[in-house]
Amino acid sequence: MRLVTLTELQPHKDWYLPNPYIHSMYRRPGTWKEAAHSMVQWHNETLNIHTHLWPGIMWLYMAYTCVGEEYYLRAPWYSQTVILFGYLSGAIMGLASGLAHTFYYINPRWASLCWKMDYVGIIGMGLSHQLLDSIILFRGVYDWPSLYYFLTLCQLLFGTYCAYDILVDRSGINWGIIYTGISCIFLTVPTAVLSYQIGQQELAISTFTCSLLIGIGGTIFYQGKLPERFWNPNGIFTIFNSHVYHHILAVLAVMAAFNCFHCLYRLSP
Ligand SMILES: [Zn+2]
Repeated sequence: MRLVTLTELQPHKDWYLPNPYIHSMYRRPGTWKEAAHSMVQWHNETLNIHTHLWPGIMWLYMAYTCVGEEYYLRAPWYSQTVILFGYLSGAIMGLASGLAHTFYYINPRWASLCWKMDYVGIIGMGLSHQLLDSIILFRGVYDWPSLYYFLTLCQLLFGTYCAYDILVDRSGINWGIIYTGISCIFLTVPTAVLSYQIGQQELAISTFTCSLLIGIGGTIFYQGKLPERFWNPNGIFTIFNSHVYHHILAVLAVMAAFNCFHCLYRLSP
């Protein structure tokens, strides 16, 4: 595979969206077979592919095996639904992102489709974190079933709207950032504080850590493009670039949220 520089990508700059601080090791637009082959070759997105693809496969396996685990069997039905939805949305996010990074560079149509799938995966994961917080808050800290069901319905409708908006290119709003940010401020922070106060420290720390890691990954690495923006000795951060750390922090964030699943059955309303 011949790799190209940032300058050689100029004709495709409208849709390829290269990282302006990475100057080399880009894959040249080509066929889907070349893209599939690029999964096992070195370029500036090899690690972006594998840091999400393999966790996605692992979470798919966990969705399959969790139904036999004690923490799942002892949880009430509404917690079981959120546990299953959580693992499945983690799997979809990981697989969608891994495949998007593999195939988006083929041509503008693939790029549009791949990034839409990637964003929808992020919305699904954000939704599952919200549903988890809602259970902790309104079935654990407070026992308020009607509000819990109402909130769950609103979140499902809003998540579906965001996914629809992304798929049909309607508003162009970056729901991945807005949705996660709003949910952290209005749901995760109160949930973490209140569940900590009732002695559910593990739940509080896990759900807050999830949002914290997403925040660090999204601002410092995804938006800030660190470290390659300021420092790239011998081109090392061309491969180990900011997007890789953003992916790794997202995986750790999802794992922190999933840590809540193991103690959900202990929440006595
Ligand atoms: Zn990515």
